[in-house]
Amino acid sequence: MHSPDSHTHLEIPGLRMTKQRKEVYRVLVDGPQDHPTAAQILERVKCNQPGTSLATVYNCLEVLVEHNAIKQVNFDRESSRYCPNLREHGHFHDTNSGQIHDITFKPGIQLADILELPPGTSIEEYEITLRGKLKTSEQSS
Ligand SMILES: [Zn+2]
Repeated sequence: MHSPDSHTHLEIPGLRMTKQRKEVYRVLVDGPQDHPTAAQILERVKCNQPGTSLATVYNCLEVLVEHNAIKQVNFDRESSRYCPNLREHGHFHDTNSGQIHDITFKPGIQLADILELPPGTSIEEYEITLRGKLKTSEQSS
C-alpha cells in the first residue's frame, strides 16, 4: 500500500537520500504543512520507521537545511520548526491556536516597495514573523 521509494520528487540534487533523510523530507513535503518541530517530525517518521531516534531526525534536518531543501524557522524561545515552502514567505503566528501560517506578499509587491531601505540595498535574506490572533469561527476540526 505504501511505497516510499516511489517518491521521485523527494530527490535533492547533490544529496544522497538515505532512507531516513527521505522519510524526514517526505513527512515535511507530503505531510501537513504546519511547521512541525523535530519532535513532531519524529512522531510522523515513526509511523513508517519505528526505530528512528530524535538524534537521527535532527541530523537529517540539519543536512536538509544545509542543502536548502527546507527552511529552519525559529520563533521566540520555542524549539525550531521546519518548513518545506521555499518560496519567499513570512510567517504568521496565531497566538490563539499556536498555529503558524505561511504568509506571502501580494502579487507585484516587493519589500523595497514598503520599506525605506538605504540606496543600493540588495536583500539576500529576511525573516518576517507576525504575531496575532485569528478570529475563531464556529468550525469544529
Ligand atoms: Zn513557512
